[in-house]
Amino acid sequence: MGEQNEKKHCLKCLLREMDKEAYMENLYDYIQRLEEDIKADQALYEERLSVCKACDYLEAGMCRACGCFVELRAVIKNNVCSYKKW
Ligand code: SF4
Repeated sequence: MGEQNEKKHCLKCLLREMDKEAYMENLYDYIQRLEEDIKADQALYEERLSVCKACDYLEAGMCRACGCFVELRAVIKNNVCSYKKW
């Protein structure tokens, strides 16, 4: 067995235990790994994110209304915006 130099993501770390860069990588990996049939299609995803971008509740990628990262919330087809904006 060869030496493993590849950085592994920690699946059991709390946010406070990760550096910001690792945390964001984990989020995007998580989105990538979601089952395609529960994901919104790309057009719907982008449309939702453009609504969030124009929303006063968006702050640093998070929705202050629901506490979610909007990119994670919007990627799930059956999710809705708490304020019915999408
Ligand atoms: S999820 Fe809804 S309330 Fe939250 S930032 Fe997006 S549009 Fe605004």
